Amino acid sequence: MATTGRDYYELLGVSKDASEAEIKRAFRRLARELHPDVSEAADAEERFREVAEAYQVLSNTETRQLYDRYGHAGLQGGGFSPGTFDFGSLSDIFSAFFGDDLFGAGGGRRARGADVVAEVAIDLVEASRGVDREVALEVAVACDRCGGNGADPGTPIVTCATCRGAGRLQQVSRSVFGEFVRTQACPRCAGAGRVPERPCSECGGSGRVVDERTLEVTIPPGIHDGQQIRISGEGHAGSVGGRAGDVYVRVRVRPDERFVREGDDIFSTVDLTIAQAALGATVTTDTLDGPADLEFEPGTQPGQIRILRGRGMPVLQGFGRGDHRVLVNVVVPHRLTTEQRELLERFEQLSSDDTYRADEGFFEKLKSAFR
Ligand SMILES: [Zn+2]
Ligand SMILES: [Zn+2]
Repeated sequence: MATTGRDYYELLGVSKDASEAEIKRAFRRLARELHPDVSEAADAEERFREVAEAYQVLSNTETRQLYDRYGHAGLQGGGFSPGTFDFGSLSDIFSAFFGDDLFGAGGGRRARGADVVAEVAIDLVEASRGVDREVALEVAVACDRCGGNGADPGTPIVTCATCRGAGRLQQVSRSVFGEFVRTQACPRCAGAGRVPERPCSECGGSGRVVDERTLEVTIPPGIHDGQQIRISGEGHAGSVGGRAGDVYVRVRVRPDERFVREGDDIFSTVDLTIAQAALGATVTTDTLDGPADLEFEPGTQPGQIRILRGRGMPVLQGFGRGDHRVLVNVVVPHRLTTEQRELLERFEQLSSDDTYRADEGFFEKLKSAFR
């Protein structure tokens, strides 16, 4: 999928500070208008892809922040490429975002069952390792009593009177923008064109009953917030002979207050006291793999960054891991006892420019001793 160069907020027609709900509303409205199933315009598919891409980026906190800060370049730098996950066809995207329509969107897909959307939330640490989750779903399955054809056993199936067997209805809408014709699946026969004369008493004639199921979903290491996992054929049952829809599991990755994630990299801060920074110290800090001891040399400065190579998030469906960058923060005492104050005043008296002159660090000296 080619990445659009256009401004995502402009594409969705929302302001930069639009809420999540506003973004969703805007996309829903545009998708309804542009989706190739409903729009006759030649560029509808291209425009739909653009707004879908914009929605994909702006509906996800992580990619939205990247985009806000660095624009399109930030997304590429952060490893984002739209639709890299398996999103399926355009109509699948549509039902993935808005789906759960038991009978599918149009007569053209009448035989195939609709997709089901589910959501799971996992912690950042779980996202770093990958995790299996059970997801509870309500799916429509073929009715046992009628075998899925919707007719009470032994009764005939006749042509639908509402659509006269066509399966589709045309609806003319008038708006300030003029008149438009929209084709939709016949609500009576759900696009089949035929209906049971006497509906099955078990399923009411739909041929399907709702069943509760639990799916085991394997979430791969490195998944990003908002990405979806598609599980083929586990969605709603199709009408007779049609294959079942898919299940889309949208994965939410809960923010971890200890870490900031940017693409596959992790950032965190570590606090050193002024004495630890000046004298050198070993300090324990949290990483995705658990606590780690970091050694800091004497004269460590605030703002120094310790890079823990390969300790960031795993690359989704790839090899290796990002880095973990630890930013050094030096904390200055807020309150001093009389004795501490005297000691610091004494220390200041004994200090000269030389005290603060950058020097070859302790570890540099140690290293050169081994060269
Ligand atoms: Zn039935
Ligand atoms: Zn009909």
